[in-house]
Amino acid sequence: MEKEEDIKNYIKAGQIANKILNNSKKMIIPGESYLDIAETIEKMIIDEGGKPAFPTNISINENAAHYTPKINDNKILEDNDLVKIDFGIHIGGCISDNAYTIDLSGEHAKLVEASKNALDAATSYMKAGRKVGDIGEIIENEIKKMGFKPIENLTGHMLKPYLLHAGEIIPNIKTDDDYILKEGDIFAVEPFATNGYGAVKEGLDLEIYSLAEMKNVRMRQSRQVLAHIIQNYFALPFARRWLSPVINSQIALSAALRELTRSGILTTYPVLKEVDNGLVSQAEHTVIIEKDSVKILL
Ligand code: MN
Ligand code: MN
Repeated sequence: MEKEEDIKNYIKAGQIANKILNNSKKMIIPGESYLDIAETIEKMIIDEGGKPAFPTNISINENAAHYTPKINDNKILEDNDLVKIDFGIHIGGCISDNAYTIDLSGEHAKLVEASKNALDAATSYMKAGRKVGDIGEIIENEIKKMGFKPIENLTGHMLKPYLLHAGEIIPNIKTDDDYILKEGDIFAVEPFATNGYGAVKEGLDLEIYSLAEMKNVRMRQSRQVLAHIIQNYFALPFARRWLSPVINSQIALSAALRELTRSGILTTYPVLKEVDNGLVSQAEHTVIIEKDSVKILL
């Protein structure tokens, strides 16, 4: 159960998310640059009075999550891409986490619909007293009904102020996880559907990190980066490109990130790819659990 002040901030973050969701869709067209999309979304968040809760994820085709543009990334959207945009806003730590999928090929409407229908079915079923493992079953059934598979090792998650993954999860398959939803809980629900195997593995691209634990570090640049993280992001994920103003030299920045990662200070979030290179769709909303339903924060 969240404090009243926090609830107000969650609702405000959701209102900003709604605007950005609608406005950003116009940019998802072939030829648009990844970097422009991510930076535009992150600028819109700040212009609306929020802060990015994590770097904008632009995950294409078999990539399910965690691709955010590199510094000077020159990739552009291609004609037939299946594009997942996942963005987060926070106000005073209260996060709205949302995602949508756009099919530029015009051939995968059913796959896009599968994750969207699963999200609608899950949020219609959710209310105080429901078991999270049963919500997973609803998601799984809805996706299978459309002829696809849910991604079994990606889940929705509880949100708490300044915590993106606050312990409890909403699985995308039937499980015996028996956490029971409580009034005032905040959850991000995010079904992923695929025409592949139904699981993700880590890829090579790594652009997203978060603070895991505080320790002393040797290099001056590492201390600089760490101070910036603590002051600006706390434990929320951040992108390497966000650190450019802190350390100009890419070589020095790589060395600092390597030291901070090796010493266990930073957690890494490599790109997650479907294990059979299946196409992946995603839909996500943040909700507040109420007595008889959920309030979708949009
Ligand atoms: Mn998300
Ligand atoms: Mn999420």
